[in-house]
Amino acid sequence: MRIVFIGPPGAGKGTQSVRLAEELGVTCLSTGEVLRQARSEGGEVGRLIGEYLDAGQLVPDKLVVELVAERLAQADCEKGYLFDGFPRTLPQAEALDELLSQRQAPLELAFEFVISEDELFRRLSKRGRDDDQEETIRERLRQYAELTDPLTEYYDLRGILRKIDAVGDFDEVYRRLQEAIWSH
Ligand code: AMP
Repeated sequence: MRIVFIGPPGAGKGTQSVRLAEELGVTCLSTGEVLRQARSEGGEVGRLIGEYLDAGQLVPDKLVVELVAERLAQADCEKGYLFDGFPRTLPQAEALDELLSQRQAPLELAFEFVISEDELFRRLSKRGRDDDQEETIRERLRQYAELTDPLTEYYDLRGILRKIDAVGDFDEVYRRLQEAIWSH
């Protein structure tokens, strides 16, 4: 299966994606993880990426799309994949479509994690990652609303969007994902 997860920071995409990808036997790819890794490797690109991460801003599309294109070309993506946190802008979604049309393997499902800002703040303030400071959280939510939220319409028009209520404990939310997949 080929799936993408869309949702604001703190909606639980990361933990759900790992388990779901394992159950489906597909590759799980978090662009946030890939970028944090690239940052820790240092160098000019790593430093540049770090500046965006610290500011809570999206890394430029070109850079992210290059990372994803390299990753998609690897053999383990042939069995399918679950992208967590990609695409995050319309140009990224279009670039992904372009990459996939070359392979004649379009996306099958786009999950949108639906959750209120108050709940997100509660969760992110507890998480304690470097970019979970209050100001950075606000910026990431702002970027989500402005750049990523429009993607849901993009996938809805294509009939592959599934909205998932992301409030509840891990198992409850996971069951909602499973049910959406079974009824697909
Ligand atoms: P995440 O782990 O998904 O919360 O991502 C953490 C940070 O990585 C985000 O705040 C962005 O700065 C960056 N990032 C992750 N995925 C993308 C993407 N698809 N496009 C641009 N920036 C991204």
